[in-house]
Amino acid sequence: MSVSSFYPPQRTLMGPGPSDVSPRVLQAMARPTLGHLDPLFVEMMDQVKTMLQYAFQTNNELTMPISAPGSAGMEACFVNLVEPGDKVIVCQNGVFGGRMKENVERCGATAIMVTDDWSKPVDINKVAEALKAHPDTKIVAFVFAETSTGVRSDAQALVKLAQDHGCLVIVDAVTALGGIELKVDAWNIDAIYSGTQKCLSCVPGLSPVSFSPRAVDVIRNRKTKVQSWFLDMNLIMGYWGGGTKRAYHHTAPVNTLYALHESLVMLQDEGLEQAWARHFYHHSALKAGLEAMGIQLVVEEQYRLPQLNLISIPEGVDEAAVRARLLSDYNLEIGSGLGALAGKVWRIGLMGYAANQTNVLHCLGALDAVLSDMKAPIERGVAVSAAQAIYSKAI
Ligand SMILES: *Cc1c(COP(=O)(O)O)cnc(C)c1O
Repeated sequence: MSVSSFYPPQRTLMGPGPSDVSPRVLQAMARPTLGHLDPLFVEMMDQVKTMLQYAFQTNNELTMPISAPGSAGMEACFVNLVEPGDKVIVCQNGVFGGRMKENVERCGATAIMVTDDWSKPVDINKVAEALKAHPDTKIVAFVFAETSTGVRSDAQALVKLAQDHGCLVIVDAVTALGGIELKVDAWNIDAIYSGTQKCLSCVPGLSPVSFSPRAVDVIRNRKTKVQSWFLDMNLIMGYWGGGTKRAYHHTAPVNTLYALHESLVMLQDEGLEQAWARHFYHHSALKAGLEAMGIQLVVEEQYRLPQLNLISIPEGVDEAAVRARLLSDYNLEIGSGLGALAGKVWRIGLMGYAANQTNVLHCLGALDAVLSDMKAPIERGVAVSAAQAIYSKAI
């Protein structure tokens, strides 16, 4: 058997992630590999750390990328902070809260579930009740930006509530980081994790995390060993801990870290607030086009995520066939509904480098054409111009 090189087509990635990667980031990845203890590489790692502190808006010393995707960042937060016998309140309003529960239970702890409808934010009153009913709770965990539903929860209020009850807080910011306002220090977040493939314009495979000094104390004073050797922050700190002396822990994914470095340089040059504003701006244009077509945004405006749009499927349409046509004829990927929302919605991501005018117009034009061809009940030929009307206004 002889297999030849793999050349993927140039897709436009507007699903729930991975999202479009900047060509600058892809080029950075192709630069020469250095030894992972090379002084030049160590210097680059320090820059990654500083730029991640900026992205997270934190001075936390323990801020670094875990060498694996977002799920590993999630696991790192739980295995380091949770010990057997602990109680953790887990808020679930979509897919990812369910994974938090799995993590808690695999740490030998008890998960107290606070559940809300999919496509609704975490209800702070229910969390308050759970805290009253379980005063011995150690940690409250929630997903800030639920990618499965396109919903933003009130992170600031949830963190304050939890800390008023003496709890630590773990926040999932995989889809939030770089896409919407997030301030780790000002909001007093103890442990947070993200991913590189959502709003950072970077390739999948790394998970930026940050731990507050309070969380680091808890990790240092554990009664039991962290159950995962690879994700034990006590050991990882020896490698990423700053200073010039680095102890070998694992071989850093050198070229993927070049990619993250480049994406963070881009974020720094654009400005964090400008990046948040850009996501919202292109979301507004996408929304105008979809609504002109007669397609509704499912999530209520006040807690709608600009970077992940949950939209209704026109009646009588075979939703999988539409996505297949978008992919084959337009090289465009959008997402299907997950779990309770499967078959009922599409998810259009505008994350990172994918949040741009060309993508929005391409997506609207392609949807218009495919749905028209399938005789779907939509308003034809108006979506692109409705979006263009937003773009022709000055920002
Ligand atoms: C994508 C995502 C994850 C998991 O990240 P991976 O990189 O796929 O492991 C976790 N939480 C949320 C909210 C996500 O959107």
